[in-house]
Amino acid sequence: MGFPDINGKTRVCGLFGFPVEHSFSPAMHNAAFQNRGLNWAYLPFAVHPDNLVKAVQGIPSLNLAGVNITVPHKQRVIPLLDEVEPTAAKIGAVNTIVNSDGKLMGYNTDGAGFIRSLAEEASFQPRDQRVLLIGAGGAARAVAFSLALSGCKAIYFTNRTTETARELAKEINLNCGTTVEVLSWGLKLPAEKVAEVDLVVQTTSLGMWPHTQAAPEFPFAALHPGQVVCDLIYTPRQTVFLQQASARGIVILNGLGMLLYQGVLAFELWTGQRAPVEVMKETLERQLIDSKLKESKL
Ligand code: NAP
Repeated sequence: MGFPDINGKTRVCGLFGFPVEHSFSPAMHNAAFQNRGLNWAYLPFAVHPDNLVKAVQGIPSLNLAGVNITVPHKQRVIPLLDEVEPTAAKIGAVNTIVNSDGKLMGYNTDGAGFIRSLAEEASFQPRDQRVLLIGAGGAARAVAFSLALSGCKAIYFTNRTTETARELAKEINLNCGTTVEVLSWGLKLPAEKVAEVDLVVQTTSLGMWPHTQAAPEFPFAALHPGQVVCDLIYTPRQTVFLQQASARGIVILNGLGMLLYQGVLAFELWTGQRAPVEVMKETLERQLIDSKLKESKL
């Protein structure tokens, strides 16, 4: 929706983060609203951490329909909400708020978006599967809880800082009952465990633009066709990690699907309508190409 379409009846939602300038979400959601003929608009709000409380209080005051929450507010926003959906509470992070008649409801569509992207783009269902997660940061948390709550049989963790992986593994086991194990980092990862899993998810920031040549060390020779390897990074679209997995004939998936489906789910929570997935996907693809062009001019 462009400026001339905005009128007195426009419903407003948006993104609270710091920074927000590089986000693809405004373009993705506004294209979706336009496609569905909805008089809605999605705006970026650069909310400094010192202003988070006032910004969240502003959601009902300004009658915003809802907002997405991004770095660095996903954890700190939780005590400011009226209700938090159980999965988001377990993950300990909220990325979507719905203003339901003045009540603020918190959701986490990152993890559910990841699960949906696995289903849509790799026909992968987590139930009874074994998964290896590389990394134990915020994204790994959302992915691990969502996999565990989707019925995964076992989750193996490996992280540069072993203690962080141990804490996350313990929480997953306590909350979801899933079998967990923390494995050695890098080339010390046991090859038999790598061969045993159905899915490998690379969740560290290693390899993300502009450090595109970086990748976690990994015993790639232990991978075999039939497994799925995913990297949550989408800039570049194919990290060095994914390239090495692909060279072994493995089905690979980047993080664009997770970004897309977290947006799809947020759209559906706010509007109560089915999201135009293809339109949102095309918009993201275009945004990626545009940002590439800008990068190449830097
Ligand atoms: P985070 O909370 O800061 O966690 C970073 C993780 O990367 C930790 O496990 C950290 O290990 C590891 N790491 C960082 N630098 C490393 C290095 N030099 N060597 C080895 N390990 C290193 O970040 P996050 O929010 O989880 O994000 C992680 C990645 O996921 C980013 O690339 C982000 O863009 C991507 N992501 C994608 C989506 C999507 O929609 N596709 C959504 C969220 C995040 P330590 O514990 O040892 O520090």
